[in-house]
Amino acid sequence: MAVAALSPEAAAPAAQLAKAALVRLAQARLEPTPENFARAYAEEAGAEPPAAAAPAPPALANVPVPWAGLIERVVRGLERGGKQWTAARRKQSLQRVLEGASHDEQRLAPRLQALLQAWEADRAQAAVETLPEPAGAATASDAGAGTLGLPETAAPMAEAVAALHAAVDSGLGDADERAAALARRLRLAARTLDEQRGPGAAHQVANVATEAQRWFDQRHEVVRQLGSLCAELAQGLTELTEDASYSRGQCEALRAQLQQPLDLRGLRQAGAVLADTRARQASVQREREEARAALKELLAGMVGEVGALQQETGGFESAFERHAAAVEGAENLPALAAVVQAMLADSRRIRTAVSGSHQRLQQGAARAAALEARVRDLEGELRRISDQAHTDALTQVANRRGLERLFAQECERVARTGLPLALGLLDIDNFKKLNDRLGHAAGDTALKSLAGAVRERLRPGDHVARFGGEEFVVLMSGLGLEESCQALTRLQRSLSASLFLHDGEEVFVTFSAGVTLWREGEPMEATVERADGGLYRAKRNGKNQTCTA
Ligand code: GH3
Ligand code: MG
Ligand code: MG
Repeated sequence: MAVAALSPEAAAPAAQLAKAALVRLAQARLEPTPENFARAYAEEAGAEPPAAAAPAPPALANVPVPWAGLIERVVRGLERGGKQWTAARRKQSLQRVLEGASHDEQRLAPRLQALLQAWEADRAQAAVETLPEPAGAATASDAGAGTLGLPETAAPMAEAVAALHAAVDSGLGDADERAAALARRLRLAARTLDEQRGPGAAHQVANVATEAQRWFDQRHEVVRQLGSLCAELAQGLTELTEDASYSRGQCEALRAQLQQPLDLRGLRQAGAVLADTRARQASVQREREEARAALKELLAGMVGEVGALQQETGGFESAFERHAAAVEGAENLPALAAVVQAMLADSRRIRTAVSGSHQRLQQGAARAAALEARVRDLEGELRRISDQAHTDALTQVANRRGLERLFAQECERVARTGLPLALGLLDIDNFKKLNDRLGHAAGDTALKSLAGAVRERLRPGDHVARFGGEEFVVLMSGLGLEESCQALTRLQRSLSASLFLHDGEEVFVTFSAGVTLWREGEPMEATVERADGGLYRAKRNGKNQTCTA
C-alpha cells in the first residue's frame, strides 16, 4: 500500500486521516483491506487513489479477519483517551501499526488486535512490547513514543497553541487585574494567530508574550521577597519569645527551609511542622501558666499565715507583760495561782496556733515545691517541643540538623573515651520504581517503616537520622570498621521479611550502604562523603549490601 500517503505533507494530520479513512470504510461497509484502506485514505487526503494492487495471495485470503469489529474498536478507542494511553499516544501508536504493516493484512490484523487490547486494558506500552509478533514483523513499539518519526502533525498545531495558551493563562490567573487583562489579550492574539497565521498575528502574540514574561518576572521577585520576609520573621520570632530556646528549633527549621529553593512540598511540610509545634506549645504554655498562678496563690496564702502567726505571738508578748505586772502586784498565793492559770491558758493557745500554722506552712511548702517542679518540667517540655524541629516530620527520626547535633555529641564522646565512631550512609534501593509502582503515599510509608525498623534494630546508644530523600545516616559508637560493616549487613538481612503491606500486598524494601570511621577533626560532610564512596560501590556491586570506605 502507498505509505507515502501518510507523509508529513498531508493536509490534515496523518492519524486523523487514518481515523477518518477507517470511519469511511465502516460507513461504506467495505472491508478494510490494504487496498480499500489506501483508497479511503487517499480520498480523505484529497489525493489521487493509488493504482490497484495485485490481488492478495490465496493462502492469506483464506484466513478470515473480523475487520468490521476491529475498526469499530479502533474508532471507539480513538475517541476515548485513557490514563496511560492518552488520545495522542493512541493516535501515534495506530499510525505506527499502520505504517509498519499496512501492506500485509495478515500482519496488520494481529498487531491491531494487540494494540486494541492494550488500549482497552489501558496498559503501559511496555506491556504491549511483550506481546508475540509474527516472525520478521516490526513490533507496534519498535521505537519509544518520542522517537516515532511521526510527522509533527500528530500533535496538531492548533492544539499545541491552545495548550500553550492555557498554561500561560492559568499561570497568569485572574486574581490580579493586570494579569487578567494580559490573559484576555493573549487569548485574542492566539485566536488571531490561529485564524490568520500571518506575521502580523505572530508579532501580536510575541508582544503580549513579552509583557506576560515581564509580569512573571515580577511575580518571581514577589515570591523571593516573601521568602526573605519569612526568614526575617523567623529571626524576629526567636528574639521576641520569652525564652529563645522555646522557639529556636522551629525558627532554625523555617530558616533552613527558606534557604533551599522554594518548593511547594517543602513549604507545606515546614508549615505543618510549625502549626503542630505551635499548637502543642500553646497547650503546654497554658498548663504552665496555670501551675504558676497556683504557685503564686499558694505563696500569698503562706505569707498571710506567717502574718497571722506574728499577730498571735505579738498578742502573747503583750499578754506576757500583763501577766508579769500581775505577778508583781499579787499579794497572796491565790492571786498568784490565778495569774499562773491565765499564763498557762495563753501559752497553750499560742502553742496550738503555732503548731497549726507550722503544719499548714509545711504543707504549703511541699505543694509549692511540687508546683515549681511542674513549671520546670513544662518549661523543659517547651524546649523539647521546639527541639523537635530537629526531628524529621515524616519518619520521626532526627533530620539533618538533628544529625549535626548528634554528630557533635558523638565527636565529643570520642574525644573523652577514645572509642571509634562509625558513620553509615544508607540509600533505599530502587525507590523510584517503588514510588512509580505503588504511588508516593506508599513510598512515604516505606520511608517511615524503614526508619522505624532501623531505629528498632540499632543498639540503644546508636542513632539514625534521615539525611534527605531516601537516604539515612546511622552513627554507631564504639564499633570498628569491620564490626560496623557487619552490623549494617545484619540489618540488611533482617529486612528480608516484608516491610509493610500495601493494599494487601507485601512490600519488600532493601537498602545499600557505605560505612566509614570518623577521623579526628574532620567535619561531618567529609565523613559522609567517604561513606558515600562505599555506598556507590555497594550500588555498583548489585545493591542490598554494605561496603566500607
Ligand atoms: P537506586 O537503587 O540507585 O538508589 O535507585 P533509586 O530509585 O532508589 O534512586 P533515585 O535517586 O533514582 O530515586 C530516588 C527517589 O526517591 C526519587 C524521589 O521521588 C524519591 N523520594 C525522595 N524523597 C521522597 C519522599 O519523601 N517520599 C517519597 N515517596 N519519595 C521520595
Ligand atoms: Mg538516593
Ligand atoms: Mg535509592
